[in-house]
Amino acid sequence: MMVDRFPSTRQDALQRLEEFVSASPRYAARRNFVHEGHPHVSRLSPAIRDRLLTEQEVVERVLAAHSFSAVEKFVQEVLWRSYWKGWLELRPQVWMSYRERLNWVRQQTPEPVLQRAREVAAGQSGVGIMDRLARELVTTGYLHNHARMWWASFWIHVERLPWELGADFFERHLLDFDPASNTLSWRWVAGLQTPGKTYLVRRSNLEKYADPAWLTDEAGLTRFDDSRVTPAEVEEFADTRPQALPLLPENPPNSARRTGVWLHAEDSSVEESSLKTLPNPALLGFSPEPDQVGPVPRAWRAAAQADSWSRGLAHFDPQVSKACTEPGEWEETLVKLAGELGVARLVAFAPAVGPLADRVPSVRRQLEAAGVELVLLRRPWDSRLWPLARRGFFDFWQRVQVDLRRGKPETEQGLLPGLV
Ligand SMILES: Cc1cc2nc3c(=O)[nH]c(=O)nc-3n(C[C@H](O)[C@H](O)[C@H](O)COP(=O)(O)OP(=O)(O)OC[C@H]3O[C@@H](n4cnc5c(N)ncnc54)[C@H](O)[C@@H]3O)c2cc1C
Repeated sequence: MMVDRFPSTRQDALQRLEEFVSASPRYAARRNFVHEGHPHVSRLSPAIRDRLLTEQEVVERVLAAHSFSAVEKFVQEVLWRSYWKGWLELRPQVWMSYRERLNWVRQQTPEPVLQRAREVAAGQSGVGIMDRLARELVTTGYLHNHARMWWASFWIHVERLPWELGADFFERHLLDFDPASNTLSWRWVAGLQTPGKTYLVRRSNLEKYADPAWLTDEAGLTRFDDSRVTPAEVEEFADTRPQALPLLPENPPNSARRTGVWLHAEDSSVEESSLKTLPNPALLGFSPEPDQVGPVPRAWRAAAQADSWSRGLAHFDPQVSKACTEPGEWEETLVKLAGELGVARLVAFAPAVGPLADRVPSVRRQLEAAGVELVLLRRPWDSRLWPLARRGFFDFWQRVQVDLRRGKPETEQGLLPGLV
């Protein structure tokens, strides 16, 4: 049986990966076509984003089945995710700047502009294909990559709306919302990420790649005539210079102290990690969704977290465990329970720069005040790749592909032995 459109359990995600492996050599030729049901792409991003599957597993699986050259494009796309994450991890101030600007824009933008932004997001712009895409995003939680580019470009360069509001709209509705991929892709379309380069949506490109059925409604299409779309001027507010990446261990400390594992939505396969041999840890599951997240991603993530939780319970067989999915003051509950369960040390994979990581200093402070040490780890894949994201993607890719081209893992370090 075929799995759901966007698998929300590890088992279904592994099955989707298997279904996709045989199609992966055709990916390069077809990936830009945006057709109903999205048959030409993997639709794995929600699962990879929450690490029901890791990037490493996906890359290793396709390279085990095919030569590097047959699946290079797909592997490269997966590596875009790692690159964006590393890029933002080296520049957390870009995320902070986006959040500050978003607040500023919400408060200072004239009401008629905000009203237009609400109409466009509600699928009432008057442009048939763009309204269809806005509705698709809200009802399914997904848009094809090319459609995200069109829509973001429509928002910024055709409607001339503030990019931060568009990025926030995606954040509320994408199943795969990722602070790095989303913020940096919006910046890229706006012309901020690669200075001097904007992405302009064009009618000829829509006619070549969009499902023909979506263009039968021609309303508003002339606004995309190739010569009509010109770049909006978008001001840069962020300091994009890279900082040093804080070093984090890959393995939990070896000691007799009573240990708990903090399961959260940024890493939903801890039993497939260096934590897997921890003897009898307590399990604490906390990372409720912020209030503004829409119902479709909320439901998807609840299913993914329930799956992560039940795999954690089955693997670790903990004597004590507690999960919380209620939003609100969950940090306090986490700290209280860690105390009640007698945990002296809580270990977790460090959330990447974004909304959950923003709450880590407060979690740490409260845990430490209760006498509980917080130990954050990083997966080897991230430790090796993120520091390489100091410059552009192609510099990153040149360095990474040397190891990936070798194909099957040759050492204990897996596919990336040479990168430290
Ligand atoms: C404006 C905009 C906003 C975006 N916001 C997000 C977001 O919040 N979260 C998110 O995961 N992706 C985001 N992307 C990237 C990309 O659109 C999605 O990762 C992709 O569409 C996921 O669908 P898929 O799994 O079917 O992709 P496939 O084409 O099957 O790609 C396979 C995998 O490669 C990775 N990948 C593919 N394209 C990209 C890309 N351009 N950047 C980074 N990784 C990529 C994903 O992990 C994906 O699952 C955004 C792109 C744009 C233009």
